[in-house]
Amino acid sequence: MNILIVDDDANARKTLGKILKAKGYDIEEAASGAEAVSKAGEKFFNIVAIDVRLPDKSGLEVLEAVRKNNEETILIMMTGYASLDSSIEAMNKGAYSYITKPLNMEQALAIIEKGVEKQRLSIENKRLLKELTEANESLKEMDARKSAFVANVSHEFKNPLAVIKESLSIIIEGLAGDIGSTKQKDILSAAKSNIERLIRLVTDLLDISKIEAGKMEMRRENFDIAILVSEILDNYKGELAKKEISLKKDIRENVGAIWADRDKISEVIINLLNNAIKYTPAGGEVGVKLIAKENNLYFEISDTGPGIPEEYKEKIFDKFERITTEKIEGTGLGLPIAKDIVELHKGRIWVESPLQQGLPAGRQGSRFIFVLPRDFRGKNTSR
Ligand code: ADP
Repeated sequence: MNILIVDDDANARKTLGKILKAKGYDIEEAASGAEAVSKAGEKFFNIVAIDVRLPDKSGLEVLEAVRKNNEETILIMMTGYASLDSSIEAMNKGAYSYITKPLNMEQALAIIEKGVEKQRLSIENKRLLKELTEANESLKEMDARKSAFVANVSHEFKNPLAVIKESLSIIIEGLAGDIGSTKQKDILSAAKSNIERLIRLVTDLLDISKIEAGKMEMRRENFDIAILVSEILDNYKGELAKKEISLKKDIRENVGAIWADRDKISEVIINLLNNAIKYTPAGGEVGVKLIAKENNLYFEISDTGPGIPEEYKEKIFDKFERITTEKIEGTGLGLPIAKDIVELHKGRIWVESPLQQGLPAGRQGSRFIFVLPRDFRGKNTSR
C-alpha cells in the first residue's frame, strides 16, 4: 500500500508520513501540485492525500488530474476549517473524504484506513464482476452451441424418420404386396405409431432450438381456421375412440379467415389436443370451441383430466416444466412452443382450471385458451 502526501507544508508532510510509515504504508511526498501530478502519472498510488491549498494549483485541480489516470485511487483532501467548502466540492468531484487541519492523527488514520478498505472492496467487486461476466459469456456461448447441436441432430433425425414412416405406411397399406398375417400388420402399425412419436419429439426439439435462436420462420397467409380445426379433429377420431373419450365440438363456421402461419397454428392446436387426450382418463370428455369476438379469434380446448394446480398455471408454459407424477410420457416442450407461436402472432395463451367449482380432486379438468388477432398487421409487428 502506498500513499502520496501532497502538501507544501513540509512539517505536515513529515508528521503524517511518519505515522503512516509506522503503520506499514510506503510514503512518498510532493510539495506542489505539479510534483503530485507528475508522480501520480508515473505510478499507481492507493491513496493520494491532497492539501486543498497549494502554491501552484488548487487541490481540486490536482484531484481531477490524478483521478483522470487512476480510477481506483482513493483521494482524500486535507483542509483547514476556512476552506471546508472546497473540500465538500472536492467530494462531489470524487474525493473519498477529507481530513481537517491541524491534523488530528487518530482521525486521519481512521479515514485513511477506511479508504483503503473501501478500495480493497471496490477492486474485489470489480474482479468478481469481471469473473461473473466472463463466466456468463462462456455459458451463453456453450448454450448457443448446445442449441445449435440439438437443432442439427433433430434435423438429421427427421428425414430418415420420415422415410421409415413412409415405408411402413406403404407396407401396411399393402402397396408393396400383401402382408402375411394380421399379427404382422399389428407389429408394423405399432412401429409406425412409435416412429410418429419420435417425429413429434424431434419436431419439438427442432422448434424449441429455433425459438431459442430466434430463427422460427413464419409463413403467414389468409386461411379459414374453422376448416383447419375440423381437419385436425378428423385425424383424431381413431385416437379418441380408442380411449373412449367423447368430443364436444362448438365450432362456429362463420368465424372467417385469419392471417397467420397455418402450419404453426395447427401445431399449437395439435399440442393442446394431444395434451387434452393424453391427460384425460379413459371415458372422459374433450371439448373444442372456436368463436370470433370483434377482431379476435378465441380457441378453447377443455378436458376432464386432473386439471392444473394454481401454482403451475404459468410455470407449465416454461420449458421442461411438468407436473405429472404418473408415468405419462412427455418432454415439457409442447406448451412453451405453443406459447411462443401464439405470441409470435401477437396473441395470448393461458389455462383455466378447475372447469367448474365442486369437482373432485384429480378430476378438476382444464381449459386451455388462446386468442389471436385476426390480422395483426398494422399493429406492432416487431417479431
Ligand atoms: P408434456 O405434455 O410433453 O409434458 P407440455 O409442455 O405440453 O409438455 O405440458 C407441460 C405440463 O403441463 C405437462 O407435463 C402436464 O403436467 C401439464 N399439462 C399440460 N396439459 C395438460 C392437461 N390438459 N391436463 C393436465 N395437465 C396438463
